[in-house]
Amino acid sequence: MSAADSKPPALSPRDAALKIVQQLRKAGHEALFAGGCVRDMLMDHEPSDFDVATSARPEQVSSLFKRTQKVGAKFGVVLVRMGKQTVEVATFRRDLAYSDGRHPSGVEFTDAREDAKRRDFTINGMFFDPVQNEVVDYVGGRDDIARRVIRAIGEPTKRFAEDHLRLLRAVRFAARFEFEIDPATWTAMREHAPEIARISPERIREELEIVLTHPRRAAAVQLLHECGVLAKCWAHAAKVSMDFGRTSDELSHLPTDASFETALAVMLASLDETAIDESCDALRCSNYTKKTVQWLHAHRDSLDDPARLTLADLKLLMANPAFSELLTICAARVASNQISGDGLSEIKRRIAEIRPEDIAPPPLLTGHDLESMGFQPGPAFKKVLERAYYDQLNGTLHSIDEARAMARSMMP
Ligand code: ATP
Ligand code: MG
Repeated sequence: MSAADSKPPALSPRDAALKIVQQLRKAGHEALFAGGCVRDMLMDHEPSDFDVATSARPEQVSSLFKRTQKVGAKFGVVLVRMGKQTVEVATFRRDLAYSDGRHPSGVEFTDAREDAKRRDFTINGMFFDPVQNEVVDYVGGRDDIARRVIRAIGEPTKRFAEDHLRLLRAVRFAARFEFEIDPATWTAMREHAPEIARISPERIREELEIVLTHPRRAAAVQLLHECGVLAKCWAHAAKVSMDFGRTSDELSHLPTDASFETALAVMLASLDETAIDESCDALRCSNYTKKTVQWLHAHRDSLDDPARLTLADLKLLMANPAFSELLTICAARVASNQISGDGLSEIKRRIAEIRPEDIAPPPLLTGHDLESMGFQPGPAFKKVLERAYYDQLNGTLHSIDEARAMARSMMP
């Protein structure tokens, strides 16, 4: 037998979690799969990760397994490494009073039934016994999956008052699974919508990123708008919410795999440049996101009238890394009947005629050339270089000699 054959097969996330459950049980503790993975299994989706909930205390979990890391010991959460997998193992708990609109002030360790009650929505509140192959459902999650409903566990008003992030989570799950939000849960969401402003901007951005990169982004934004959460997400969001008809239509015509930046640029399109900058800052977007959204916004209409676009203008746009996203937005505007498709067809025809190496060729004329001609760097210098490059892209400047002649005629 070769060395490769003797290696144990890599554990799947499910097998790793199963091994942990078995070991916890062998030591006399209760242990179950919990939360999202149970929901996903019941819906025939492949779970992204398998979380384990147990009656064992964090110290007991740590002492039972070789490779562990306490991440939220205060909340009873221990990460257990099993093979190449990392499994979150959380002690059954009840949350104590919430003070900051997001986190409980502490937790008390309890049993599975109580642990189910502190979870957000019924579809997320179930357990699964992988040894008996049995769903353990204390909150009616199975029925709600069958009815395709997102329902808060317990008293909805109280649940959204405790943790305002649940407002965004409700929308995320409703849009992802195309479920309805239960009327009482919806009423509570509308009532608590303004409290979203108390959630940290990073966390709001993270949730927006999740829903805006999902194929059902338009449905998610529609729900955010209708429950009043969108308008309160950051300072300029009220205007975004007002312009919502166009936004939603345009979002619904983006390709399923559109980037966060593309979708965000669509969402922010009715804002001016300053408000775009401030929105990206408010949401703590990365520099990359901010730069891309700014560029997409500044050039939103650039492709609408091909007659106004010289060959050089088009090449300069094409040279930007976000150009394909600009085309995507343009196509969504055509599909949502904001502009005619003739312009875009003409642009595509022209793009097809441009050889890749001609999009951003090295400049014929450089600063070095100008200096060797005896010119001093300065504003005129820069203007000459820009002009020479523009003419080069337009195909009207063909050689360094022509470029030098142009420089001599332009330099003071
Ligand atoms: P996803 O597939 O998007 O990861 P998930 O249901 O696994 O969905 P997580 O954020 O990974 O969601 O959380 C795991 C579980 O923890 C949830 O299924 C839910 O039971 C519970 N949970 C997470 N966040 C909250 C919250 N804010 N309030 C109450 N329970 C929560
Ligand atoms: Mg999860």
